[in-house]
Amino acid sequence: MKTVRLKVYGIVQGVGMRPVVARHATSCGVTGTVANLGPYVEIFAQGDEDKVDDFVRLIEEQPPKRAAILKIDNRTLDDAPIYDSFEIIESGKTSGEIFVSPDIAICDECLEELYDKKNRRYLHPFINCTCCGPRLTILDSLPYDRERTSMKEFPMCEKCASEYHDPETRRYDAQPVCCNDCGPEVFILDDPENRRGRDAITYARKLLSEGGIVAVKGIGGFHIACDAYNEDAVRRLRELKHRPAKPFAVMMKSADVVRAHCEMLPLQEEILKGHQKPIILLERKDVSGLARSVAPGNPKLGVMLPYAPLQSLLFDYDDGITMPDTLIMTSGNISGLPICRDDDDARREIARFCDAILTHNRKIRIRADDSVMDFYNGKPYMIRRSRGYAPLPYMMSEDLKGSVIAYGGELKNTFCIGVNNLFYPSSYIGDLTDLRGKAVLAESVERMETLLETKPQLAVCDLHPSYNSSLAAEESGLPLVRVQHHYAHILSCMAENDYHGECIGVSFDGTGYGTDGTIWGGEILKCSPSDFTRLGSIRPFLQTGGDAASKEGWRIAVSMLIDICGSRAEEILGRLNLIRNGNFKMHKAMHDGKLNSVVSTSAGRLFDAVSAILGIRYENTFEGEASTALMYEAMKCKSHVAACDYELTGEYIETDMIVRDLVQRRLAGEDPRELAYRFHRLLGEAAAEFVSANAGTVRTAALSGGCYQNTLLLDITKKALENRGFNVLIHSLIPPNDGGISIGQAFYGMNKLKDGGI
Ligand SMILES: [Zn+2]
Ligand SMILES: [Zn+2]
Repeated sequence: MKTVRLKVYGIVQGVGMRPVVARHATSCGVTGTVANLGPYVEIFAQGDEDKVDDFVRLIEEQPPKRAAILKIDNRTLDDAPIYDSFEIIESGKTSGEIFVSPDIAICDECLEELYDKKNRRYLHPFINCTCCGPRLTILDSLPYDRERTSMKEFPMCEKCASEYHDPETRRYDAQPVCCNDCGPEVFILDDPENRRGRDAITYARKLLSEGGIVAVKGIGGFHIACDAYNEDAVRRLRELKHRPAKPFAVMMKSADVVRAHCEMLPLQEEILKGHQKPIILLERKDVSGLARSVAPGNPKLGVMLPYAPLQSLLFDYDDGITMPDTLIMTSGNISGLPICRDDDDARREIARFCDAILTHNRKIRIRADDSVMDFYNGKPYMIRRSRGYAPLPYMMSEDLKGSVIAYGGELKNTFCIGVNNLFYPSSYIGDLTDLRGKAVLAESVERMETLLETKPQLAVCDLHPSYNSSLAAEESGLPLVRVQHHYAHILSCMAENDYHGECIGVSFDGTGYGTDGTIWGGEILKCSPSDFTRLGSIRPFLQTGGDAASKEGWRIAVSMLIDICGSRAEEILGRLNLIRNGNFKMHKAMHDGKLNSVVSTSAGRLFDAVSAILGIRYENTFEGEASTALMYEAMKCKSHVAACDYELTGEYIETDMIVRDLVQRRLAGEDPRELAYRFHRLLGEAAAEFVSANAGTVRTAALSGGCYQNTLLLDITKKALENRGFNVLIHSLIPPNDGGISIGQAFYGMNKLKDGGI
């Protein structure tokens, strides 16, 4: 007879750990108990030695499908009580390292039952099981039990309760379990006809099929949907949302539909159909008959599959309505702001875009926008890490102690909580350009601190004094450290790669506050986890025109060319048609008098300027439009670029030389696509050369910042650095853009605590 106590760490709550353990125990003939203890699942197992060993092996080899076991502590106990049977015991409560499961997309078994006329959950909009359903977004506190979720308002009917308590069913211990008799209900919001349940779904489908716009409450917030084939509907949505060109994501009925419209790698298909179901940016096929306005001029399409049962029902229902197989599914928010979470948000912010709002009465506790994933080199390259991924923690190999809260940046905000060697990046909050965003940030931070049962000792924020995220950090009342924006980007890349040594960071980004009060954004930084030195940057230029310059790349181009072209500036600007507003004299006066101007090294603004010089895009109607278009033009060019005859590095990365070279070639009539490629090539090579010349003994480089969403620039820089003998760290599941910097800030904060610097 042997008794062991196991502590199983990882994603073990809300994934059916206890019932699987109980089944393994029964099959091995072992007695004992299993309990959720918050940070871990605790198991006592008793029986013949070989049976107990078999049982432990089974847990390791056949954990629940959605579990992610990080560690099992196994201790043999000398004196233990005798167990007659194997029991699941109710959740106890302790605190410490906690793992909260992200929301899980509907599983294949549930999808099958959803459309099985004989099943009692036929067409039930909230069907779920031990393997699937909402988790993070319905959770109040841990441990994960129904009474601590927003399902507590829906007492189980007798049948659901018996499934919940029967280890033989797929719903044993599944907290959100419900059915048509006992679950939440869908309805049309503020509907004079009070359509509920079936009527509500049919009404929404009818509107969509007729070209209407319908908001739909999902797992982590509202979406706005319309028929993606209907040009009028899509264009109307663009007008209502004041969103002229930014691509919309689409939801397709099945992988077959995706295959008909897009190219798909096997791994992309696997992730698209998997339990996280992010939006994946896929290359479009020419045959796609979708409305032109879905993603105008964009060779890629953001695609996802239905992940909530209600979304499947929009495509497939028994009401005889013929539905399109592809719907626009864009976040239900005012552009950039946090996604709407409850009916009041929806009434206030999106009702005016919509012909109807299909909502339900299961509350969303924490927002979770859809994650957005690109691919680089056959691997995931995250653009927005949120639903399905947050708040999975990153575990560092380094021994770190304490707790910090990092408030992130101003755009694409996320925050990150660090507890010892675990880092929990939050789901996507959005832009904090107004106070609503800031309020959502503060509320979400509080909720995550409660969920993780931690009280941070230290807050970390950006150096920018007037970011709303910095203000939220100040209001926390905690001791506060500030981290320079572009250093935080490199720290985020180090954290993602669990790298704790020195590296040279290439931080190519939009704009951020520099330590000298100027605008930074094209930086080469020598970094360690606790400090950095600015080795150099792209050549500073004058960013004239104030706020307009960040949207209108032609203004940057004008200012640059006045410097670069000297007495020929007026003639050249004229030939390139770059002055879009006002006249040369006015811009020259603004430039010379440094009116409304700042000194800038922003790589993002450089991309905007080059896009304008090449006549690709003169301005941004959404963030990144000009630079993304420049990348896509460059990608169309397959020709080889000859080396540059100029020396491109010296005191700075000599971006002036690159721009001069491009202008000369453009005036000589060279193809803008080739020049777009040439720009990427020269910039990437010049950055690598600068790193190489200034790295000293450091042999590791890290690439981060919003410009590294550009996978062509990423590829060129990475290879150029590798050719010079560097080991290159890049991102994968943490975004290179501002959505990633919170983990970098938290990493810095934890290292400060370790160094005793606070
Ligand atoms: Zn399921
Ligand atoms: Zn029920």
